[in-house]
Amino acid sequence: MAERLPRGYHSPQVDVEVRLNTNEAPAGPPPAFVEALSRALGELNFNRYPDREARRLRAAVGERHGVGPEQVLCTNGSNESISLLLATAGGPGRTAVVFGPTYALHAHLSRLAGMEVLEFERDPVDFALSAETVTRAVSGPSDVVFLCRPNNPTGTLDGTDVIGAATAGRGLTVVDEAYAEFAGLPAGPPPAGAAVTRTFSKAFGIAALRLGYVVADADLVEELVERALPYHLDALKQAAGLAALELVGSLEPMIAQVIDERTELLAGLRDLGVQAWDSSANFILFRPEGTAGEIWAALVERSILVRDLSGLPGLANCLRVTVGTPEENLRFLDALSAII
Ligand SMILES: *Cc1c(COP(=O)(O)O)cnc(C)c1O
Repeated sequence: MAERLPRGYHSPQVDVEVRLNTNEAPAGPPPAFVEALSRALGELNFNRYPDREARRLRAAVGERHGVGPEQVLCTNGSNESISLLLATAGGPGRTAVVFGPTYALHAHLSRLAGMEVLEFERDPVDFALSAETVTRAVSGPSDVVFLCRPNNPTGTLDGTDVIGAATAGRGLTVVDEAYAEFAGLPAGPPPAGAAVTRTFSKAFGIAALRLGYVVADADLVEELVERALPYHLDALKQAAGLAALELVGSLEPMIAQVIDERTELLAGLRDLGVQAWDSSANFILFRPEGTAGEIWAALVERSILVRDLSGLPGLANCLRVTVGTPEENLRFLDALSAII
């Protein structure tokens, strides 16, 4: 018998009318995206392997970040970027550092890579991360250091000083910027000594297509490429990424609406007397009175799905809700109000 793998990472996929549990965009991409992708589909050479280097897409992503294609690797979701970074800078006998509560997948993939995971703590009240904590963390074993900006699931946006503190260590700093667009973080070159991951799953509204990327030093990207499976990025995905980047400007109103709705939702939660944290992402962490698991189930009964995080250290009785459409958010607030 093989040794048991670390427990998996799952958000239950329950069939409900209002899905506010995995931080997807409230609506799909603009119609022009679907048209562009349909055109690309019509021109696709189905019998041929895709461009192994994904040259056009890497160049387009690089342009967005002000770097050359040699500093970009596009992957099947940013999760694959993280796996490849761990296959390169991590591995058995090495140590990953995370600052919890944070995105559980960083620790999970590190353990799958055979690594030890050291979890350091954010402030238990406001979830802020200080540069001092990071400096202390990287003074010990720290081959891969994960930062999540903004942080999932707390919504916290750490200062850039934590990046400096992390890159001052000996290990590789991975900055997960899955929610950067909702925090207004510019797309730029990676900070020295860090690899930045981003995704098309959230602000771009194409989670279904599983596309993400990493921006890093050219030397590191070369090592990542060596570890990727041949032709890992299919032609449809490459076309989708190009089409999405063409239309990046048209995302602005959608992102602005999510940010407005985030303000409304936060105020709505606080009006109900619910403890809720400020967020720089497209979700809100909150702690209702009562038992989170029961409230989660009562919301599901009303066909609303949020994320139950109450089992995680530091998140007793906490739930996380994705910012949805104005209608979805109202429905959620009405249901919660009726339950509590
Ligand atoms: C949703 C999310 C991602 C996205 O992963 P993909 O594989 O690109 O869909 C990455 N990091 C964090 C912190 C997330 O919450």
